[in-house]
Amino acid sequence: MTDRDDTPAVADGPAAERRAEIAEGLAAVRARIAAACASAGRSEDEITLIAVTKTFPASDVRLLAGLGVTEVGENRDQEARPKAADCADLPLTWHFVGRLQTNKARAVAGYADVVHSVDRARLVAALAEAAARTGRTLRCLVQVSLDEAGKKGEVGERGGAVPADVPALADEIAAAPGLELGGVMAVAPLGADPLPAFDRLAETAARMRRNHPDARIVSAGMSGDLEQAIACGATHLRVGTALLGGRRAIVR
Ligand SMILES: *Cc1c(COP(=O)(O)O)cnc(C)c1O
Repeated sequence: MTDRDDTPAVADGPAAERRAEIAEGLAAVRARIAAACASAGRSEDEITLIAVTKTFPASDVRLLAGLGVTEVGENRDQEARPKAADCADLPLTWHFVGRLQTNKARAVAGYADVVHSVDRARLVAALAEAAARTGRTLRCLVQVSLDEAGKKGEVGERGGAVPADVPALADEIAAAPGLELGGVMAVAPLGADPLPAFDRLAETAARMRRNHPDARIVSAGMSGDLEQAIACGATHLRVGTALLGGRRAIVR
């Protein structure tokens, strides 16, 4: 990397390069969203882009915010907590999208606005208690397993409740003080066509809205499958790699 003396430090150097890189990623993702909405006959206003910043530093979150991103996603509490604290001055909505242990519920409730990964009754209870303690309202999505295992009634390897368990979980979230039922979330099964899986998610979401009409969020679609997710009615996309580049290691 070369340092030039003829421009102010803030406009040059690694930070400016990183900013340009992220701006390029963001423009490309926004173009993909626009094209997918056009071919699905949907309005771009229906889509919320969540930048998944796991493994990337708080400085990247700051650059994203400077580029107009308002929604940020993280998947591990021990990484998310300090990052959210670091960025507390920014007008951001924090989404927790990873598997969540019950004993981390209170910590996550301290900074997260939306929890996408609610998949069992014990976690609903823990989040409700945490929300009551912190005095904050947590919007919760029921994570739905779209694996073949999920169809057979087993817990899928990517997490999530089997579709048959979703209505009861939705009712519990809706009834819990401090929690607000937002809708559903899913991760497409590995190595399979995402379209039929996202269609199953859309059905589960429609069923949920019959009893909970305000639960309109369908969180689906990542860097590799956001077009298919938009075609199947996703409202929230969780995009990491396409915005920020490759992660060094995926820690689960
Ligand atoms: C990492 C992650 C994403 C983003 O994945 P990319 O393929 O990098 O866009 C989305 N959702 C969840 C739950 C994740 O853990």
